[in-house]
Amino acid sequence: MDGCIFCKIIKGEIPSKKVYEDSNVYAFSDIHPQAKHHILFVPKQHISGLTELNDKETLNNIFFAIKKVTKELGIDGTGYRVCANNGPDAGQTVFHVHFHVLGGQRLSDKMV
Ligand code: AMP
Ligand code: ZN
Repeated sequence: MDGCIFCKIIKGEIPSKKVYEDSNVYAFSDIHPQAKHHILFVPKQHISGLTELNDKETLNNIFFAIKKVTKELGIDGTGYRVCANNGPDAGQTVFHVHFHVLGGQRLSDKMV
């Protein structure tokens, strides 16, 4: 989608630190990491938010990619957090649905 920063990252028009890619999913390091590992997982298809993501297969693909990458990073045992900010109350700033994965260290117990 024109003007979408994550679509530009997926197309390689904006540089990113790629962590994972398959035919449906792209994952890259967050530019402002909030933990030792802070990775964003996005569908290649432009979908603005979790509310608009209604396709089971896309959700499956993203979560299997998260499982694969966290295992490869060796944080599947120590733990990690998956978070999706959806809409204004959650403070979503980029309107291409994405899942934050944070790990590699002890995380805050604050959820809000
Ligand atoms: P959210 O607030 O959940 O919409 O998260 C958007 C995230 O995208 C933030 O954590 C930003 O640091 C991250 N972000 C924005 N632009 C870039 C970029 N060019 N490369 C990597 N991460 C980015
Ligand atoms: Zn997009």
